[in-house]
Amino acid sequence: MPSSSPRPTTPAPTAPHQAHLQATDALARQHGVDLASGLTAEEALARGERHGPNALPAARPRSLLQRLAEQLRDFMVLVLLGAAAVAGLVGEWTDAAVILVIVLLNAVIGCVQAWRADQALAALRRLAAAQATALRNGMPQTVPAHALVPGDVVLIEAGNQIPADLRLFEIAQLKVDESALTGESVTVGKEDAVLQAEEVQSLGDHRNMAFKGTTATHGRARGLVVATGMQTELGRMAQLLDEDAPPTPLQRRLAAFGKRLALVVLAICAVVFGVGVLRGEAVWQMGLTAISLAVAAIPEALPAVVTVLLALGARRMVEVHALVRRLPSVETLGSVTVICSDKTGTLTQNRMRVERVLSPEGVWHADAAVPSPLPAVLGETLRAAALCNDARALPDWPASDAALLPEAWVGDPTETALMVAAEVAGLAARQLGHLSPRHHEWPFDSERKRMATLHGPCTPAHGDDAVLYVKGAPESVLPLCTVQWQPSGAAPLDGQAVLRQAQGLAAQGLRVLAVARRTVPLEAARWPADEAERHLELLGLLAMIDPPRPEAAQAVRECQTAGIVPVMITGDHPATARAMAQRLGIVQAADAPVLTGADLAGMDDRALQAQVDVVQVYARVDPAQKIRIVQALQARGHFVAMTGDGVNDAPALQRADIGVAMGRGGTDVAREASSLVLLDDNFATIVAAVREGRRIYDNIRKFVRYTMTGNSGEIWTIFLAPLLWLPMPLQPIHILWVNLVTDGLPGLALAAEPAETGVMDRPPRPPQESLFAQGMWQHILFVGLLIGGLCLAVQAWALHTGLAHWQTMVFTVLTLAQMAHVLAVRSERTPLWRQGMGSNRPLLGAVACTVALQLCTIYVPALQPIFKTEALSAGELALCMAAAAVVYAAVEAEKAWRRRAAKPAAAPAHRRAR
Ligand code: ATP
Repeated sequence: MPSSSPRPTTPAPTAPHQAHLQATDALARQHGVDLASGLTAEEALARGERHGPNALPAARPRSLLQRLAEQLRDFMVLVLLGAAAVAGLVGEWTDAAVILVIVLLNAVIGCVQAWRADQALAALRRLAAAQATALRNGMPQTVPAHALVPGDVVLIEAGNQIPADLRLFEIAQLKVDESALTGESVTVGKEDAVLQAEEVQSLGDHRNMAFKGTTATHGRARGLVVATGMQTELGRMAQLLDEDAPPTPLQRRLAAFGKRLALVVLAICAVVFGVGVLRGEAVWQMGLTAISLAVAAIPEALPAVVTVLLALGARRMVEVHALVRRLPSVETLGSVTVICSDKTGTLTQNRMRVERVLSPEGVWHADAAVPSPLPAVLGETLRAAALCNDARALPDWPASDAALLPEAWVGDPTETALMVAAEVAGLAARQLGHLSPRHHEWPFDSERKRMATLHGPCTPAHGDDAVLYVKGAPESVLPLCTVQWQPSGAAPLDGQAVLRQAQGLAAQGLRVLAVARRTVPLEAARWPADEAERHLELLGLLAMIDPPRPEAAQAVRECQTAGIVPVMITGDHPATARAMAQRLGIVQAADAPVLTGADLAGMDDRALQAQVDVVQVYARVDPAQKIRIVQALQARGHFVAMTGDGVNDAPALQRADIGVAMGRGGTDVAREASSLVLLDDNFATIVAAVREGRRIYDNIRKFVRYTMTGNSGEIWTIFLAPLLWLPMPLQPIHILWVNLVTDGLPGLALAAEPAETGVMDRPPRPPQESLFAQGMWQHILFVGLLIGGLCLAVQAWALHTGLAHWQTMVFTVLTLAQMAHVLAVRSERTPLWRQGMGSNRPLLGAVACTVALQLCTIYVPALQPIFKTEALSAGELALCMAAAAVVYAAVEAEKAWRRRAAKPAAAPAHRRAR
């Protein structure tokens, strides 16, 4: 068991801002922590209670009252309140009271919607909260960054956001981007040495510290937490965090559209008012009618409802393991035409297993018996692979199990596979580090494609010399090798032959690593990488398999039917990449074109643009080159989703239309730069997110189609009546009521609408396409006209036959027609009977509730004077229902027409989206 950390017995720790003047050991003693094992979980908890969370306080969420006030400040609401006041003044007390109640109900609905959206967004924010790796009970553990306490020991790697103010130690080439704090854009190299007060003028001079809010861009280190939360430098200069999200492009477009529409509606209201007064209606009554119509028909709430739909959609996306970091990407996901994906871990399982080891003594297949005695070079190859390795054994696995199971190790899967192979060969990999301690390292990065470590004297044969081990991609390591290690000593190296061997393995879909060594003096620890990594002796090659994810091939097919081109971009060998792409169905031909990073480097942008239309596999690509691929695809008119996990991926993630970061394996930097995080690092999740994005956008369209058609129906009814010499068909109360009950519940229930069948069988939506495209305008005008026509026809007929209840009938037709409409617009194509009534239960409930409320206004005697209604006879009610049924039938007929029109033009299954 790891030793529990000693309780602090020494005086209070040095003030955080003095920590750079102290040696780490002294600081650790003051903080009562053992740097090798960190705090115990209990101690961390106790300190957490004393110090509070390691977070900067966010702006306080708005109270219910503030929200209500916000709703009531809306211009249209103020107009209505004015109208209520006038109604009160002229003695129309009922009208005034009903308007007030309706305004209040509307505000409450608005509040509930805003609250739901906030809840959904807060849940997303909690999920996206930063994590850190801390040593607790002697083991590295992932903890929420807000749970860090002074005295914690934190492990920092390239790509991590620094989670608290740290005094650094065990530094390996750590570089930190401090621009967020200092404004200085050059990254700062860090070192362990104690600083003198006069050396430190500003924050940027704290070379042995790393501050919360900055980011590690290179190397790694450990850090002792000396300040958290508001005690950190960031906390001391921070303002309250304002967590309000800016409006999405769709919301901005809708708000602008709403303003233009408002002018049209106001003009219509003016006409209605003028005509009514000319016809001798009471001025006060006509004024209230015009105001009510304006309130009902101006879609001022649309942008707010869109937030609700987007936020609830984003919440649901978490269920398919896609975490949305930027709300606008929910609405644009459906436009993706190309998904550029990493290979390792996204398309493959990242469960590496060493399959073969090639050394001058021959080939060892890892599932075959271990040769005894272990041939010398094979042994040294595996030893090198296990030493030049950052994977660590978990302490609670019995040693005998650890030999075979990758789960017994923590670290990069490539490296854990090497540890397992070394154990299988009987090398006791977990002990090697103790016998040959590491003195220095030149960390792996995906541009160098190799790493090197320096180990103390290993065997007496080496005298005082140290050994440098290097492992990495064969093309990266072989050019640095001058000789090959043989059992008999060094022999000349045929680099080309070894490269061909590596190529042959890669063509089988295997990942190949070359391993080399060099005897050097211990002082090599101070050499730069290019001086240390030369004159190497090649030891051998290791070939690993990484099976494809079982669901990836299906997801690739789904992309293709959805008109989305899947593209693989990998740091791995071209032959490995092509073999895997073929296995997954990304490319069909065995000689499908593959562009390498070297090819890219030799191409100008125009040449690349000509290639991106035909190439679907990119290999040995540096992360920095990904941005050129994104730009070339965008120049060809594509809407690009791009995955990435490392620090260097950030620019490409930012540039892509949808940057997709890895939630498990990715760095904080990549997550910050992206709009979507895959919680399971899985390619299939991107496809699922696109499907969700399409569903959500469809539902927004359905909501807009539904409410705007209803509004258009109300306008037509009131606008046309005087032109047809009919009396004013509705009272202001009716208009306000219809607006309240039809928009609120049923509209929101459309958010729960499941994806349409075939949502992934159609090509992506052009990103610039208007929300009103594809016949929406026509639908709003004509179905609105139909609703208005039906209301007026019922009115005219009722008046003609002398029925006294004509106004109640018009009121009822208007409500029921909208209920029929909402059921019919659940799909743009599929008939309701095929969708099934029960497939959106919230909507069914909302419709039932609205109809019940409507019936109450007609039949509850106490409500009749308020709503100015009269009880309808069964025949009259049946007539109203029949009129509503006409609307339903008309929309179903429109859908049937769409289905027929779409058939001949149906997209071929594998159409490429260009
Ligand atoms: P992808 O970009 O699809 O995730 P990848 O994991 O192969 O693919 P990188 O992580 O950039 O991409 O690795 C590039 C190459 O570097 C690998 O093909 C391998 O040869 C080598 N490599 C990977 N991991 C290590 C490691 N831990 N040590 C040494 N070399 C490595």
